[in-house]
Amino acid sequence: MPKIIHTRMKCIGCGVCHEKQPEYWRMSKKDGKATLLNAELKKDKAILSIPESEADFSRSVAADCPVKIIQVM
Ligand code: SF4
Repeated sequence: MPKIIHTRMKCIGCGVCHEKQPEYWRMSKKDGKATLLNAELKKDKAILSIPESEADFSRSVAADCPVKIIQVM
């Protein structure tokens, strides 16, 4: 199953991921960074398994992240 992996501490809070994919991303009112919803936390990564059908669009979201801190594997 594909996974979205987010290095949250490096997020600059641009909001692109939330705009494109609000079902997976929220912008935190506390620190302005994006949060990957329902993700498992491992060290500095947030990891969420997604359906194969969501992988290509998630890759396009990752490509649009200006600081390239979203990976889809
Ligand atoms: S697109 Fe990247 S930098 Fe912008 S809010 Fe999302 S994770 Fe943060």
